[in-house]
Amino acid sequence: MAETLKMYLAGEWTEGTGQEHHELISPVNGEHIATVPLPSDTDVDRAVAAAREAADEMRHWSAFERADLCLRIAAAIEPLVPEIARIQTLEQGKPYHEESLADIEEANQYFYNAAEDVKRLTGEVIPTSSRSKRMFTFRRPVGVWAAITPWNFPVTIPLEYVGPGLATGNSVIVKPPEFTPWALLKLAEAFDAAGVPKGAVSVLPGGGPVGESLVTHDGVDAIGFTGSSATGKRIIAEMGVKRSIMEMSGNGPTIVTADADLEAAAPLAVYGAYYNAGQVCCATERVIVLDEVHDEFVALAVEAAGDVRLGDPFDATTNMGPLNNEPTASKMDAHIADARGRGAEVLVGGGRASGYPTDLYYDFTIVDNVPEQSALSQDESFGPVLPILRAADDAEAVAIANRSRLGLQAAVFTRELSKAFWYADRIRSGTVVVNDSTDFWETFQPFGGAAGTDTGWGRGRIEEFTDLQTVVFDIGSQDG
Ligand code: NAD
Repeated sequence: MAETLKMYLAGEWTEGTGQEHHELISPVNGEHIATVPLPSDTDVDRAVAAAREAADEMRHWSAFERADLCLRIAAAIEPLVPEIARIQTLEQGKPYHEESLADIEEANQYFYNAAEDVKRLTGEVIPTSSRSKRMFTFRRPVGVWAAITPWNFPVTIPLEYVGPGLATGNSVIVKPPEFTPWALLKLAEAFDAAGVPKGAVSVLPGGGPVGESLVTHDGVDAIGFTGSSATGKRIIAEMGVKRSIMEMSGNGPTIVTADADLEAAAPLAVYGAYYNAGQVCCATERVIVLDEVHDEFVALAVEAAGDVRLGDPFDATTNMGPLNNEPTASKMDAHIADARGRGAEVLVGGGRASGYPTDLYYDFTIVDNVPEQSALSQDESFGPVLPILRAADDAEAVAIANRSRLGLQAAVFTRELSKAFWYADRIRSGTVVVNDSTDFWETFQPFGGAAGTDTGWGRGRIEEFTDLQTVVFDIGSQDG
Protein backbone atom coordinates (compact mmCIF):
# COMPACT_ATOMS: atom_id res chain seq x y z
CA MET A 1 0.00 0.00 0.00
CA ALA A 2 1.44 3.36 -1.02
CA GLU A 3 1.51 6.01 1.71
CA THR A 4 -0.28 9.29 1.14
CA LEU A 5 2.11 12.03 2.26
CA LYS A 6 1.50 15.60 3.34
CA MET A 7 3.84 18.55 2.97
CA TYR A 8 5.12 20.50 5.98
CA LEU A 9 3.99 24.05 5.32
CA ALA A 10 4.23 26.85 7.87
CA GLY A 11 4.08 24.46 10.79
CA GLU A 12 1.13 22.46 9.42
CA TRP A 13 0.85 19.07 7.75
CA THR A 14 -1.24 19.68 4.67
CA GLU A 15 -2.01 18.39 1.18
CA GLY A 16 -1.73 22.00 0.02
CA THR A 17 -4.05 23.65 -2.49
CA GLY A 18 -2.45 22.23 -5.65
CA GLN A 19 -4.12 19.65 -7.85
CA GLU A 20 -0.95 17.79 -8.77
CA HIS A 21 0.62 14.76 -7.13
CA HIS A 22 3.80 12.82 -7.71
CA GLU A 23 3.94 9.04 -7.52
CA LEU A 24 7.09 7.99 -5.71
CA ILE A 25 8.52 4.74 -7.14
CA SER A 26 11.21 2.87 -5.21
CA PRO A 27 14.45 2.15 -7.10
CA VAL A 28 14.83 -0.86 -4.79
CA ASN A 29 11.73 -2.80 -5.81
CA GLY A 30 9.98 -0.72 -8.49
CA GLU A 31 6.88 -0.34 -6.32
CA HIS A 32 4.75 2.76 -5.92
CA ILE A 33 5.64 3.59 -2.31
CA ALA A 34 4.06 7.00 -1.74
CA THR A 35 1.91 9.70 -3.29
CA VAL A 36 3.35 13.16 -2.73
CA PRO A 37 1.31 16.37 -3.04
CA LEU A 38 2.96 19.13 -5.07
CA PRO A 39 2.55 22.69 -3.80
CA SER A 40 0.68 25.33 -5.80
CA ASP A 41 1.96 28.90 -6.19
CA THR A 42 -0.49 29.84 -3.41
CA ASP A 43 1.21 27.29 -1.12
CA VAL A 44 4.62 28.72 -2.02
CA ASP A 45 3.37 32.24 -1.23
CA ARG A 46 2.05 31.01 2.13
CA ALA A 47 5.34 29.33 3.00
CA VAL A 48 7.28 32.50 2.11
CA ALA A 49 4.95 34.77 4.12
CA ALA A 50 5.16 32.48 7.17
CA ALA A 51 8.94 32.24 6.76
CA ARG A 52 9.19 36.03 6.81
CA GLU A 53 7.09 36.29 9.93
CA ALA A 54 9.21 33.67 11.71
CA ALA A 55 12.48 35.28 10.60
CA ASP A 56 11.28 38.71 11.80
CA GLU A 57 10.69 37.13 15.22
CA MET A 58 13.82 34.95 15.41
CA ARG A 59 16.21 37.78 14.54
CA HIS A 60 15.55 39.10 18.03
CA TRP A 61 16.37 35.81 19.77
CA SER A 62 19.72 35.57 21.46
CA ALA A 63 22.35 33.27 20.01
CA PHE A 64 21.90 31.04 23.04
CA GLU A 65 18.14 30.70 22.47
CA ARG A 66 18.75 29.67 18.86
CA ALA A 67 21.47 27.24 19.91
CA ASP A 68 18.98 25.67 22.33
CA LEU A 69 16.47 25.30 19.50
CA CYS A 70 19.09 23.43 17.43
CA LEU A 71 19.83 21.09 20.34
CA ARG A 72 16.11 20.39 20.83
CA ILE A 73 15.82 19.50 17.13
CA ALA A 74 18.80 17.13 17.37
CA ALA A 75 17.21 15.44 20.40
CA ALA A 76 13.89 15.09 18.57
CA ILE A 77 15.59 13.53 15.53
CA GLU A 78 17.35 10.86 17.62
CA PRO A 79 14.42 8.41 18.06
CA LEU A 80 13.41 8.83 14.40
CA VAL A 81 16.81 7.83 12.97
CA PRO A 82 16.08 4.15 12.10
CA GLU A 83 12.76 4.97 10.42
CA ILE A 84 14.14 7.95 8.47
CA ALA A 85 17.07 5.74 7.36
CA ARG A 86 14.65 3.00 6.26
CA ILE A 87 12.60 5.44 4.18
CA GLN A 88 15.77 6.93 2.73
CA THR A 89 16.94 3.51 1.57
CA LEU A 90 13.54 2.71 0.09
CA GLU A 91 13.29 5.95 -1.90
CA GLN A 92 16.97 6.55 -2.63
CA GLY A 93 18.50 3.06 -2.86
CA LYS A 94 21.60 3.40 -0.63
CA PRO A 95 22.44 0.42 1.63
CA TYR A 96 20.58 0.66 4.93
CA HIS A 97 23.24 -0.88 7.20
CA GLU A 98 26.38 0.28 5.40
CA GLU A 99 25.34 3.85 4.63
CA SER A 100 21.82 5.05 5.35
CA LEU A 101 21.88 4.72 9.15
CA ALA A 102 25.22 6.52 9.47
CA ASP A 103 24.02 9.14 7.03
CA ILE A 104 20.98 10.01 9.15
CA GLU A 105 22.96 9.85 12.39
CA GLU A 106 25.28 12.42 10.81
CA ALA A 107 22.28 14.65 10.18
CA ASN A 108 22.16 15.63 13.84
CA GLN A 109 25.71 16.84 13.65
CA TYR A 110 24.61 19.84 11.59
CA PHE A 111 22.49 21.01 14.52
CA TYR A 112 25.20 20.34 17.11
CA ASN A 113 27.79 22.17 14.97
CA ALA A 114 25.45 25.13 14.40
CA ALA A 115 24.60 25.32 18.13
CA GLU A 116 28.31 25.54 18.95
CA ASP A 117 29.29 27.85 16.08
CA VAL A 118 26.61 30.46 16.67
CA LYS A 119 27.78 31.09 20.22
CA ARG A 120 31.22 32.00 18.91
CA LEU A 121 30.01 34.20 16.05
CA THR A 122 31.32 37.63 16.90
CA GLY A 123 31.37 41.07 15.31
CA GLU A 124 34.25 43.54 15.30
CA VAL A 125 35.12 46.94 16.65
CA ILE A 126 36.68 48.87 13.77
CA PRO A 127 39.15 51.73 14.36
CA THR A 128 38.02 55.02 12.82
CA SER A 129 39.87 58.18 11.74
CA SER A 130 37.73 60.36 14.00
CA ARG A 131 38.05 60.61 17.79
CA SER A 132 34.28 60.92 18.13
CA LYS A 133 33.22 57.87 16.16
CA ARG A 134 32.79 54.25 17.24
CA MET A 135 32.25 51.59 14.61
CA PHE A 136 30.94 48.02 15.15
CA THR A 137 29.89 45.15 12.95
CA PHE A 138 27.05 42.76 13.70
CA ARG A 139 26.15 39.46 12.09
CA ARG A 140 22.45 39.76 11.23
CA PRO A 141 20.30 36.98 9.76
CA VAL A 142 19.83 37.17 5.99
CA GLY A 143 16.08 36.45 6.27
CA VAL A 144 14.25 33.88 4.15
CA TRP A 145 16.26 31.13 2.48
CA ALA A 146 15.08 28.67 -0.14
CA ALA A 147 17.20 25.50 -0.01
CA ILE A 148 16.95 23.54 -3.26
CA THR A 149 18.50 20.14 -2.81
CA PRO A 150 19.38 16.92 -4.69
CA TRP A 151 18.42 13.26 -4.25
CA ASN A 152 21.84 11.74 -3.51
CA PHE A 153 21.81 12.80 0.19
CA PRO A 154 18.10 13.53 0.67
CA VAL A 155 18.35 14.44 4.36
CA THR A 156 21.87 15.56 5.19
CA ILE A 157 22.15 18.17 2.42
CA PRO A 158 18.95 20.03 3.40
CA LEU A 159 20.16 20.04 7.00
CA GLU A 160 23.44 21.69 5.96
CA TYR A 161 21.19 24.69 5.29
CA VAL A 162 18.57 24.29 8.04
CA GLY A 163 21.09 23.88 10.92
CA PRO A 164 23.21 27.01 10.45
CA GLY A 165 20.23 28.85 8.93
CA LEU A 166 18.08 28.54 12.05
CA ALA A 167 21.02 29.06 14.40
CA THR A 168 21.64 32.48 12.87
CA GLY A 169 17.95 33.47 12.92
CA ASN A 170 16.90 32.71 9.35
CA SER A 171 13.88 30.82 8.05
CA VAL A 172 14.53 28.03 5.55
CA ILE A 173 12.07 26.67 2.99
CA VAL A 174 13.47 23.36 1.73
CA LYS A 175 12.56 21.98 -1.65
CA PRO A 176 13.69 18.38 -1.91
CA PRO A 177 13.53 16.79 -5.37
CA GLU A 178 10.65 14.67 -6.64
CA PHE A 179 12.77 11.49 -6.41
CA THR A 180 13.40 11.68 -2.63
CA PRO A 181 11.06 13.89 -0.56
CA TRP A 182 9.82 11.30 1.96
CA ALA A 183 12.73 10.84 4.37
CA LEU A 184 13.00 14.61 4.85
CA LEU A 185 9.25 14.91 5.41
CA LYS A 186 9.58 12.21 8.08
CA LEU A 187 12.40 14.19 9.69
CA ALA A 188 10.22 17.32 9.68
CA GLU A 189 8.22 15.70 12.50
CA ALA A 190 11.24 16.57 14.66
CA PHE A 191 10.86 20.28 13.80
CA ASP A 192 7.32 20.11 15.10
CA ALA A 193 8.31 18.22 18.24
CA ALA A 194 11.18 20.60 19.00
CA GLY A 195 8.94 23.67 18.88
CA VAL A 196 10.42 25.29 15.79
CA PRO A 197 8.44 28.52 15.25
CA LYS A 198 5.71 28.09 12.64
CA GLY A 199 7.09 28.90 9.21
CA ALA A 200 10.75 28.92 10.27
CA VAL A 201 11.10 25.67 8.33
CA SER A 202 8.82 24.41 5.58
CA VAL A 203 9.37 21.36 3.38
CA LEU A 204 7.78 21.75 -0.05
CA PRO A 205 8.41 18.72 -2.25
CA GLY A 206 8.43 19.09 -6.02
CA GLY A 207 10.49 19.38 -9.16
CA GLY A 208 11.98 22.23 -11.18
CA PRO A 209 8.81 24.38 -11.37
CA VAL A 210 8.49 24.59 -7.57
CA GLY A 211 12.21 25.41 -7.42
CA GLU A 212 11.72 28.18 -9.98
CA SER A 213 8.81 29.67 -8.02
CA LEU A 214 11.09 29.96 -5.00
CA VAL A 215 14.14 31.18 -6.91
CA THR A 216 12.20 34.02 -8.54
CA HIS A 217 10.05 34.87 -5.50
CA ASP A 218 10.42 38.45 -4.26
CA GLY A 219 9.97 37.30 -0.67
CA VAL A 220 12.98 34.95 -0.79
CA ASP A 221 16.24 36.67 0.20
CA ALA A 222 18.76 33.90 -0.42
CA ILE A 223 19.18 30.66 -2.33
CA GLY A 224 21.02 27.62 -1.06
CA PHE A 225 21.38 25.33 -4.04
CA THR A 226 22.99 21.91 -4.16
CA GLY A 227 22.65 20.14 -7.48
CA SER A 228 23.99 19.98 -11.01
CA SER A 229 25.97 22.75 -12.66
CA ALA A 230 23.38 22.90 -15.46
CA THR A 231 20.52 23.68 -13.04
CA GLY A 232 22.77 25.97 -11.01
CA LYS A 233 23.50 28.09 -14.08
CA ARG A 234 19.76 28.48 -14.73
CA ILE A 235 19.18 29.50 -11.13
CA ILE A 236 21.99 32.07 -11.25
CA ALA A 237 20.43 33.56 -14.39
CA GLU A 238 16.97 33.73 -12.80
CA MET A 239 17.43 34.60 -9.14
CA GLY A 240 18.35 38.28 -9.48
CA VAL A 241 20.05 40.02 -6.57
CA LYS A 242 19.80 37.31 -3.93
CA ARG A 243 22.46 35.95 -1.62
CA SER A 244 23.49 32.45 -2.60
CA ILE A 245 25.43 29.35 -1.77
CA MET A 246 25.85 27.27 -4.94
CA GLU A 247 27.16 23.72 -4.45
CA MET A 248 27.36 22.14 -7.88
CA SER A 249 28.73 19.18 -9.86
CA GLY A 250 32.15 17.60 -9.39
CA ASN A 251 34.50 15.47 -11.43
CA GLY A 252 37.13 15.22 -8.74
CA PRO A 253 40.20 13.41 -9.98
CA THR A 254 42.31 11.09 -7.92
CA ILE A 255 45.95 11.34 -8.96
CA VAL A 256 48.18 8.35 -8.30
CA THR A 257 51.81 9.43 -8.45
CA ALA A 258 54.85 7.25 -9.08
CA ASP A 259 55.74 6.99 -5.38
CA ALA A 260 52.17 6.36 -4.13
CA ASP A 261 51.27 3.57 -1.73
CA LEU A 262 49.35 1.63 -4.38
CA GLU A 263 48.00 -0.93 -1.92
CA ALA A 264 46.23 1.94 -0.13
CA ALA A 265 45.36 3.98 -3.21
CA ALA A 266 43.59 1.26 -5.22
CA PRO A 267 40.92 0.23 -2.67
CA LEU A 268 40.32 3.88 -1.68
CA ALA A 269 39.82 4.83 -5.33
CA VAL A 270 37.41 1.91 -5.76
CA TYR A 271 35.55 2.90 -2.58
CA GLY A 272 35.23 6.48 -3.87
CA ALA A 273 33.61 5.12 -7.03
CA TYR A 274 31.10 2.70 -5.46
CA TYR A 275 30.06 4.48 -2.21
CA ASN A 276 26.42 5.54 -2.69
CA ALA A 277 26.73 3.81 -6.10
CA GLY A 278 29.00 6.66 -7.20
CA GLN A 279 26.21 9.22 -6.77
CA VAL A 280 28.31 11.68 -4.80
CA CYS A 281 29.50 15.12 -5.90
CA CYS A 282 33.01 14.29 -4.67
CA ALA A 283 33.04 10.68 -5.94
CA THR A 284 36.19 9.30 -7.57
CA GLU A 285 35.04 10.24 -11.05
CA ARG A 286 38.48 9.81 -12.68
CA VAL A 287 41.81 8.32 -11.68
CA ILE A 288 44.86 9.80 -13.35
CA VAL A 289 47.72 7.33 -12.94
CA LEU A 290 51.37 7.94 -13.73
CA ASP A 291 52.60 5.60 -16.48
CA GLU A 292 55.28 3.97 -14.30
CA VAL A 293 52.73 2.58 -11.83
CA HIS A 294 49.79 2.15 -14.17
CA ASP A 295 49.82 -1.62 -14.57
CA GLU A 296 50.32 -2.35 -10.90
CA PHE A 297 47.58 0.12 -9.87
CA VAL A 298 45.12 -1.35 -12.39
CA ALA A 299 45.75 -4.90 -11.13
CA LEU A 300 45.16 -3.79 -7.53
CA ALA A 301 42.00 -1.85 -8.48
CA VAL A 302 40.55 -4.90 -10.27
CA GLU A 303 41.31 -6.94 -7.15
CA ALA A 304 39.63 -4.32 -4.91
CA ALA A 305 36.54 -4.40 -7.13
CA GLY A 306 35.91 -7.83 -5.62
CA ASP A 307 34.89 -6.05 -2.40
CA VAL A 308 31.84 -4.49 -4.04
CA ARG A 309 28.67 -6.38 -3.08
CA LEU A 310 25.78 -5.18 -5.23
CA GLY A 311 22.37 -6.25 -3.98
CA ASP A 312 19.22 -5.57 -2.01
CA PRO A 313 20.12 -2.43 -0.01
CA PHE A 314 18.25 -3.76 3.04
CA ASP A 315 20.53 -6.82 3.16
CA ALA A 316 23.26 -6.35 5.79
CA THR A 317 25.95 -7.75 3.46
CA THR A 318 25.20 -5.32 0.60
CA ASN A 319 27.52 -2.36 0.19
CA MET A 320 26.11 -1.04 -3.10
CA GLY A 321 22.44 -0.65 -3.96
CA PRO A 322 20.68 0.41 -7.16
CA LEU A 323 21.07 3.77 -8.84
CA ASN A 324 18.35 6.19 -7.82
CA ASN A 325 16.74 6.92 -11.16
CA GLU A 326 16.65 6.14 -14.86
CA PRO A 327 18.27 9.39 -16.14
CA THR A 328 21.33 8.57 -14.02
CA ALA A 329 21.47 4.97 -15.28
CA SER A 330 21.04 6.12 -18.90
CA LYS A 331 23.89 8.61 -18.45
CA MET A 332 26.11 5.75 -17.26
CA ASP A 333 25.14 3.68 -20.33
CA ALA A 334 25.96 6.60 -22.61
CA HIS A 335 29.31 7.38 -20.94
CA ILE A 336 30.46 3.75 -21.10
CA ALA A 337 29.35 3.37 -24.74
CA ASP A 338 31.21 6.58 -25.62
CA ALA A 339 34.41 5.35 -23.91
CA ARG A 340 34.17 1.97 -25.66
CA GLY A 341 33.71 3.76 -28.98
CA ARG A 342 36.91 5.72 -28.33
CA GLY A 343 38.93 2.58 -27.66
CA ALA A 344 38.88 2.40 -23.86
CA GLU A 345 38.91 -1.07 -22.28
CA VAL A 346 36.18 -2.19 -19.91
CA LEU A 347 37.97 -4.40 -17.36
CA VAL A 348 35.15 -4.99 -14.87
CA GLY A 349 31.35 -4.71 -15.24
CA GLY A 350 30.21 -2.33 -17.95
CA GLY A 351 26.42 -2.29 -17.74
CA ARG A 352 23.21 -2.97 -15.88
CA ALA A 353 23.05 -6.05 -13.68
CA SER A 354 20.37 -8.61 -14.44
CA GLY A 355 18.12 -10.51 -12.05
CA TYR A 356 17.07 -7.59 -9.85
CA PRO A 357 13.59 -6.14 -9.27
CA THR A 358 14.43 -2.95 -11.22
CA ASP A 359 16.72 -2.05 -14.10
CA LEU A 360 18.62 0.40 -11.88
CA TYR A 361 21.09 -2.10 -10.37
CA TYR A 362 24.39 -1.37 -12.11
CA ASP A 363 27.51 -3.51 -12.12
CA PHE A 364 30.56 -1.89 -10.58
CA THR A 365 32.67 -0.92 -13.58
CA ILE A 366 36.36 -0.24 -14.23
CA VAL A 367 37.37 1.28 -17.55
CA ASP A 368 41.06 1.58 -18.43
CA ASN A 369 42.93 3.74 -20.95
CA VAL A 370 40.11 6.28 -20.99
CA PRO A 371 40.86 9.04 -23.52
CA GLU A 372 40.74 12.51 -22.01
CA GLN A 373 38.14 13.65 -24.54
CA SER A 374 35.64 10.95 -23.58
CA ALA A 375 32.50 11.76 -21.62
CA LEU A 376 33.72 9.54 -18.75
CA SER A 377 36.64 11.92 -18.32
CA GLN A 378 35.05 15.25 -19.22
CA ASP A 379 31.70 15.01 -17.45
CA GLU A 380 30.40 13.84 -14.13
CA SER A 381 29.16 10.24 -14.60
CA PHE A 382 27.48 9.96 -11.16
CA GLY A 383 27.50 6.17 -11.21
CA PRO A 384 29.64 3.24 -9.98
CA VAL A 385 32.48 3.59 -12.45
CA LEU A 386 36.22 4.00 -12.06
CA PRO A 387 37.64 5.55 -15.25
CA ILE A 388 41.45 5.28 -15.43
CA LEU A 389 43.51 7.77 -17.43
CA ARG A 390 47.26 7.76 -17.91
CA ALA A 391 49.77 10.62 -17.49
CA ALA A 392 53.44 10.64 -18.45
CA ASP A 393 54.52 12.78 -15.47
CA ASP A 394 53.26 15.00 -12.64
CA ALA A 395 52.94 18.06 -14.87
CA GLU A 396 50.71 16.19 -17.28
CA ALA A 397 48.62 14.78 -14.41
CA VAL A 398 47.91 18.30 -13.10
CA ALA A 399 47.19 19.57 -16.62
CA ILE A 400 44.61 16.80 -17.17
CA ALA A 401 43.06 17.45 -13.75
CA ASN A 402 42.75 21.17 -14.41
CA ARG A 403 41.31 20.91 -17.91
CA SER A 404 38.04 19.77 -16.30
CA ARG A 405 35.71 22.57 -15.27
CA LEU A 406 34.39 20.47 -12.37
CA GLY A 407 37.23 20.49 -9.84
CA LEU A 408 35.32 20.13 -6.60
CA GLN A 409 37.31 17.72 -4.43
CA ALA A 410 40.52 16.08 -5.70
CA ALA A 411 42.76 13.44 -4.14
CA VAL A 412 46.49 12.85 -4.53
CA PHE A 413 48.37 9.75 -3.46
CA THR A 414 52.05 10.33 -2.74
CA ARG A 415 54.52 9.46 0.02
CA GLU A 416 56.44 12.74 -0.43
CA LEU A 417 55.32 15.76 1.56
CA SER A 418 56.83 18.23 -0.89
CA LYS A 419 55.06 16.54 -3.80
CA ALA A 420 51.75 16.63 -1.90
CA PHE A 421 52.09 20.40 -1.55
CA TRP A 422 53.28 20.74 -5.15
CA TYR A 423 49.96 19.23 -6.23
CA ALA A 424 47.85 21.13 -3.68
CA ASP A 425 49.39 24.38 -4.92
CA ARG A 426 48.46 23.58 -8.53
CA ILE A 427 45.21 21.61 -8.61
CA ARG A 428 42.19 23.82 -9.26
CA SER A 429 39.61 22.32 -6.91
CA GLY A 430 37.81 23.40 -3.75
CA THR A 431 39.48 20.68 -1.67
CA VAL A 432 42.58 18.56 -2.14
CA VAL A 433 42.74 15.37 -0.06
CA VAL A 434 46.16 13.75 0.32
CA ASN A 435 46.31 9.95 0.69
CA ASP A 436 42.60 9.34 1.12
CA SER A 437 39.52 9.01 -1.03
CA THR A 438 37.91 11.98 -2.80
CA ASP A 439 34.88 10.89 -0.77
CA PHE A 440 36.56 11.98 2.49
CA TRP A 441 34.00 14.06 4.40
CA GLU A 442 33.49 15.74 7.76
CA THR A 443 30.40 17.74 8.66
CA PHE A 444 32.43 20.81 9.66
CA GLN A 445 34.78 20.68 6.66
CA PRO A 446 34.74 23.90 4.64
CA PHE A 447 33.48 22.66 1.31
CA GLY A 448 32.73 24.21 -2.04
CA GLY A 449 33.79 24.81 -5.60
CA ALA A 450 36.89 26.45 -7.01
CA ALA A 451 36.85 29.84 -8.72
CA GLY A 452 37.00 29.63 -12.49
CA THR A 453 35.10 26.33 -12.63
CA ASP A 454 31.44 25.30 -12.88
CA THR A 455 31.41 23.89 -9.35
CA GLY A 456 29.87 26.90 -7.60
CA TRP A 457 30.74 28.74 -4.38
CA GLY A 458 30.05 28.77 -0.69
CA ARG A 459 32.16 27.06 1.93
CA GLY A 460 29.27 26.12 4.19
CA ARG A 461 30.47 28.16 7.15
CA ILE A 462 27.95 29.70 9.48
CA GLU A 463 28.99 33.26 8.52
CA GLU A 464 27.46 32.71 5.08
CA PHE A 465 24.01 32.62 6.63
CA THR A 466 24.50 36.13 8.02
CA ASP A 467 24.47 39.65 6.68
CA LEU A 468 27.29 41.88 7.87
CA GLN A 469 25.88 45.11 9.30
CA THR A 470 28.02 48.06 10.35
CA VAL A 471 26.79 50.44 13.03
CA VAL A 472 28.54 53.80 13.47
CA PHE A 473 28.11 56.01 16.56
CA ASP A 474 29.01 59.61 16.97
CA ILE A 475 29.66 59.93 20.70
CA GLY A 476 30.24 63.67 20.71
CA SER A 477 33.42 65.55 21.50
CA GLN A 478 35.98 63.77 23.68
CA ASP A 479 38.40 66.71 23.76
CA GLY A 480 40.30 67.35 26.94
P1 NAD B 1 19.56 18.71 -10.30
O1 NAD B 1 20.32 19.94 -10.65
O2 NAD B 1 18.84 17.99 -11.37
O3 NAD B 1 18.46 19.04 -9.18
C1 NAD B 1 18.81 19.67 -7.97
C2 NAD B 1 17.59 20.39 -7.43
O4 NAD B 1 17.24 21.47 -8.29
C3 NAD B 1 16.34 19.51 -7.33
O5 NAD B 1 15.64 19.81 -6.15
C4 NAD B 1 15.54 19.94 -8.55
O6 NAD B 1 14.15 19.70 -8.43
C5 NAD B 1 15.85 21.42 -8.59
N1 NAD B 1 15.63 22.07 -9.87
C6 NAD B 1 15.65 21.53 -11.12
N2 NAD B 1 15.43 22.48 -12.04
C7 NAD B 1 15.27 23.64 -11.37
C8 NAD B 1 15.03 24.98 -11.79
N3 NAD B 1 14.92 25.32 -13.06
N4 NAD B 1 14.94 25.94 -10.83
C9 NAD B 1 15.06 25.63 -9.52
N5 NAD B 1 15.28 24.37 -9.08
C10 NAD B 1 15.39 23.39 -9.99
O7 NAD B 1 20.59 17.78 -9.54
P2 NAD B 1 20.36 16.30 -9.04
O8 NAD B 1 20.36 15.38 -10.21
O9 NAD B 1 19.21 16.28 -8.10
O10 NAD B 1 21.66 16.06 -8.15
C11 NAD B 1 22.86 15.60 -8.64
C12 NAD B 1 23.84 16.75 -8.83
O11 NAD B 1 24.04 17.42 -7.59
C13 NAD B 1 25.21 16.27 -9.25
O12 NAD B 1 25.70 17.10 -10.28
C14 NAD B 1 26.06 16.42 -8.00
O13 NAD B 1 27.43 16.60 -8.22
C15 NAD B 1 25.45 17.63 -7.39
N6 NAD B 1 25.75 17.69 -5.97
C16 NAD B 1 26.65 18.63 -5.53
C17 NAD B 1 27.01 18.68 -4.19
C18 NAD B 1 27.99 19.71 -3.69
O14 NAD B 1 28.08 19.87 -2.47
N7 NAD B 1 28.71 20.41 -4.55
C19 NAD B 1 26.47 17.76 -3.29
C20 NAD B 1 25.56 16.81 -3.78
C21 NAD B 1 25.21 16.79 -5.12
